[in-house]
Amino acid sequence: MTIKCKKCNHEAVIFQKYSGMHLCKKHFVEDVERKIKLTIRKEYSIRKNDVIAVALSGGKDSSVALYIVHKILGNRPDIEIVAISVDEGINGYRPHSLEVAKSLTKILGVRHIIKSFKEVHGVTMDELAATDREKGACSYCGVLRKNILNRTALEIGATKLVTGHNLDDEAQTILLNHLRGDVERLVRLAPPAAIEGLVLRAKPLRNIPEKEVALYAIINSLPVDFSECPYAGEALRGEIRELLNNFEAKHPGTKYSLLRGFDKLAGALIKEMPPAKIGKCRICGETCTEDVCQTCKLLGRA
Ligand code: SF4
Repeated sequence: MTIKCKKCNHEAVIFQKYSGMHLCKKHFVEDVERKIKLTIRKEYSIRKNDVIAVALSGGKDSSVALYIVHKILGNRPDIEIVAISVDEGINGYRPHSLEVAKSLTKILGVRHIIKSFKEVHGVTMDELAATDREKGACSYCGVLRKNILNRTALEIGATKLVTGHNLDDEAQTILLNHLRGDVERLVRLAPPAAIEGLVLRAKPLRNIPEKEVALYAIINSLPVDFSECPYAGEALRGEIRELLNNFEAKHPGTKYSLLRGFDKLAGALIKEMPPAKIGKCRICGETCTEDVCQTCKLLGRA
């Protein structure tokens, strides 16, 4: 027996346990896009002459983010959308996802900039991973990638930098920071204020569960790389992901509750713990909160 969509007579492709709705392809796509439009309207005011940079890895989240931002804003002549990809230098993984990213930008007709760790930082992720490191590979990768994304976004005059973080990513990070007692990092998750030298981050998918992002990509036949980075696997995050998925199965809506609770707290947290004073790194001149930026520290330049 086929299960029907709650809104029409067509066959359902998904059951959203948290909303209690079965949805067909058309109504599922409408639901995802409605939530994303609402997030953009409420949290990231789009202005005339905005240049919107989208961090594009070729994975499902960033590909869906670019596709939807382009679908919603791509026909506005006063707004420019530019995709930025970072080649971290991870053999057997990144070359393929970059090809996938290229094909999406070609289909959409979006300008695409690719920068590499090697050309900007002088080292690949594979080279870094092979060294004696204090921290996990992702700690290096995340900092060096953010640095390139922000620099490139500034170079092209971007007013927003869109990333593909979904509801699962946000809920995991909130819980992870609680479990580590890391309130400073928790505060940084709150919608950022405009800071000179840092392009405003926007996460339009933060209200969309990961599974729905994947289904949206498949339904819209987006070129997407579903493979996993060989360095992936931050142990604690993996456990939290499993824990949250189990909770969500037993108590639908848990991930949304975590995000909503955090959003309510964020204002008070920012007042209690205002962001640290912003300055310039004395070595590379990047905007940062300390004497030397994270990138220079990790690359041993300090
Ligand atoms: Fe970089 Fe870690 Fe992501 Fe791999 S999983 S691309 S190492 S942040």
